[in-house]
Amino acid sequence: MRVLIVGGGIIGLSIGEELTRRGVEVQILERNPEAGTEASSAAAGILSPQGEAKGPGPLLDFLQAGYQMIPEAVARLESLTRMDLRLRASGMLALALSDADEEELEQVYSWQTKAGLRLDRVSASHVKQLEPAVDGPVRWGIWWPQTSQIDNVRFVEAYRRAVEAQGGKIETNRPVTRFLTEADRVVGVETPQGKLFGDWVVNCAGSWAGFDLSFSLPIPTIPVKGQILQFRTERPWFQRIVRSARAYFVQRWAQQLIVGTTVEQAGFNKEVTEEGRRTIQAGAKELVSRMASISPEKSWSGLRPGTPDQMPLLGPTPLKQFLLAAGHYRNGILLAPLTGRLIADWITRGTCSMDLSAFSVTRFLAKKTV
Ligand SMILES: Cc1cc2nc3c(=O)[nH]c(=O)nc-3n(C[C@H](O)[C@H](O)[C@H](O)COP(=O)(O)OP(=O)(O)OC[C@H]3O[C@@H](n4cnc5c(N)ncnc54)[C@H](O)[C@@H]3O)c2cc1C
Repeated sequence: MRVLIVGGGIIGLSIGEELTRRGVEVQILERNPEAGTEASSAAAGILSPQGEAKGPGPLLDFLQAGYQMIPEAVARLESLTRMDLRLRASGMLALALSDADEEELEQVYSWQTKAGLRLDRVSASHVKQLEPAVDGPVRWGIWWPQTSQIDNVRFVEAYRRAVEAQGGKIETNRPVTRFLTEADRVVGVETPQGKLFGDWVVNCAGSWAGFDLSFSLPIPTIPVKGQILQFRTERPWFQRIVRSARAYFVQRWAQQLIVGTTVEQAGFNKEVTEEGRRTIQAGAKELVSRMASISPEKSWSGLRPGTPDQMPLLGPTPLKQFLLAAGHYRNGILLAPLTGRLIADWITRGTCSMDLSAFSVTRFLAKKTV
């Protein structure tokens, strides 16, 4: 069996890794000179199912299941590649500084408590004991123990090496321009270097998943730009991930502090802007006054693959032998191992362990015809 994967971000690579481990022939087509250099490298590496969920339902279940899979996937990749992916169960503090923040956190606290999830309320004085760098007007916070962080650039690189070690092909500078169909099935793809045919085609093109405008299946991904600043600190400022509604801090390792982020609808523009920098720094200074005295050593941006309802596009489609694995929005790093397993199960077993109907692209097709 031969599988063509369009897009070599963490999602395409994780699917490729699962499939090659099962002995399937895999060809990953990536239009950039290197795989993994878009959203997957731009991310902050926060793995937080509860920090991102908006309420109980299929997305929360998916995020929780994704979190459970991380340790096993990381251990496997670390043992294969001898890399340290810097996975750390740091937990996350979400802090309220205003009436609006308090209202938002109250709502989160209320639904997550009712749902039986693990979280705690933390007083302002306790926050300051836990994280002495925080000296802003914090009112209270939520503590999520079930949150980790990972070096996502290394995570992507480990997947890339694993795919190749297991015999998969990653072809860079190979943009897919069109899907090739025969009646109701997708049979291959077209690239400037020629046509390729496979038993399955998986679209993992992230924010660009809707690139083939002549395709009979509309794929509604929306690029959502996020900018990030990186600072150098003499010693670590934080033990845990700390966030408010306007900024987050991730102490990557001893001297590297990641501060994010913006959420912008700017089309496919990835420019790092002065306004973006100011917005992030203002949110950061509110929590930590020392932020006013340091300047970023690096900044970058990436495009989160969003969808109109902020849920992924995953699994089978009305077209035979064509699967989608896109639209992971703010959680693609967290969801990569689980996505890889589910899509590989679908291809090799014709079924998978989770009900993917809530993530089917048909939810948008149905709306269109009403
Ligand atoms: C600033 C920022 C912070 C984030 N923080 C986190 C976080 O803390 N935790 C978390 O879990 N997630 C986070 N995310 C989200 C996460 O990065 C994404 O959900 C994830 O990387 C999506 O992976 P992907 O492989 O689908 O997309 P991408 O990494 O964008 O990969 C898609 C690939 O497809 C390729 N491609 C596109 N079109 C074609 C084509 N026609 N032919 C061939 N190749 C093509 C692209 O070049 C690209 O390499 C963040 C994202 C951003 C931008």
